[in-house]
This record gives sequence, structure tokens and C-alpha cells, in this order.
Amino acid sequence: MTATKEVGFTVEFWRRESKKARSISIRSLPPYGVEIVVPKGLSHKFVTKIINQNEQYINQKLNDIKNRNFDIKPSKISLPATTKVFDVTYLALETEDFSLKEANETIILKEPKERVSLITNSKLLQQWLQIKAVSILEKAVETNSKKLNIPYNKIKIGSRKSIWGSCSHKKNINLNRNLLFLEPSLIKYVVTHELCHIHEMNHSKQFWYLLNEVLPGSQKLQRQLKSVANSSIPSWALI
Ligand SMILES: [Zn+2]
Repeated sequence: MTATKEVGFTVEFWRRESKKARSISIRSLPPYGVEIVVPKGLSHKFVTKIINQNEQYINQKLNDIKNRNFDIKPSKISLPATTKVFDVTYLALETEDFSLKEANETIILKEPKERVSLITNSKLLQQWLQIKAVSILEKAVETNSKKLNIPYNKIKIGSRKSIWGSCSHKKNINLNRNLLFLEPSLIKYVVTHELCHIHEMNHSKQFWYLLNEVLPGSQKLQRQLKSVANSSIPSWALI
């Protein structure tokens, strides 16, 4: 992927060569920008001509994305699960590689001056979130499992969109790392919900009865979870 042009800091425009593509296509990829897919082997001159012919269309798409204000280069990251707010500093340096370090609630993200990439930035922040999520959510499952006396098999932390958690017949629990953007009471709700599935592998009356017994007020928490679900997660974590 080569960035051929940078428009502001929020969106990018790049071209990608594809073996499969039969013709040039221009795709809007919110929140990142516009991608031009070019069949392998086409001359640079020809591609540049096509890009110039479509400049107005490309700029319009870039502006559309800009105006939607996606939060993909955050200066602060709030993780209610940890009750901490992290400052993020981006350093464009004479370096070859991207890197991320965290110390004292400050994240330093170093990026090569020549290849500033919002996609790589998001991926690094996601990796950082994943590491945090593994330690926090594994602990939450362990604590609640002991408290409720419901043993489980394995835990897996992932990023499946729109699913907060699941539980398999093998008693394996899957949780979404984006739970870290929610309040601890909601994390407890999701963890308890999944642990209860170990006894009741469905959403039967017995399941809800069990859940409410071990977590009084669970219905209210479930409603709360539904209402905050999507608005709580920043764009950078979802891509
Ligand atoms: Zn369920």
C-alpha cells in the first residue's frame, strides 16, 4: 500500500495493486479514506491519468469522511473498566518501524515520518487494548467464577463486532475486548451472563431466573448494556 497523497491528517488517499482486479476501482473506506485498486501491470502514467480525471469525485469522498469526524487518532483514551484515562502522543520520526509504549497512563506512538498511517496506528492501539483486556477480563471471569462456584474451561478475548460475549458447550468463554470501554458494572453483567450459560445453554426462563438470582438487578443492567453498546466504542477500536 503506497500513500500517494495526504489530505489533512484525518483521511488518506492511497493506491493498491491487485492481481485479481480487472479494472481500476475507487472505493471509499471510512474512516480511513479512499482506496484506488489498480490491476497489476498498469502503467503509472495511465493510473495517474485516471486519478486526475476523478479528482473531484475522490476529494468529495475524502471530505465526506472528514466531515463525519471519526475518532481514529485519539489524543485521549478513556477506559472506564480501569477507571483510567490515557493520553496519547504521536511522534512522527526518522524511523523505520511503528511502535507503541505505555508508561504512567501515557501512550507514545512512534511512526515513520515517511509512512504515517492511520491504519497501522489503529492496529497498534488495538493490540495495546487486547493486552489490557486479556489481563482485566480474565481476572473478572476468574473472580466471578469462584464467587458463583461455576467453573469454566478456557477464556478467549477477541474483537467480534456486535457480540460482547459467548459461551460454548465446552464451557469456553469468549469475551469482546471492547468491554473495556464500559463501566465495571456492565462488565460484571456480561461475565456473569456467560458464566450462567455454563448451567443453562440457552435463554430460557430458567436462565434468566438463575442470572437474576446470582446478580440481582440484571435486567436493568441488560437494558443499560443495549443502550450504551455502540456509542461507547471509538472508531479506532472497531476497524
Ligand atoms: Zn446469553
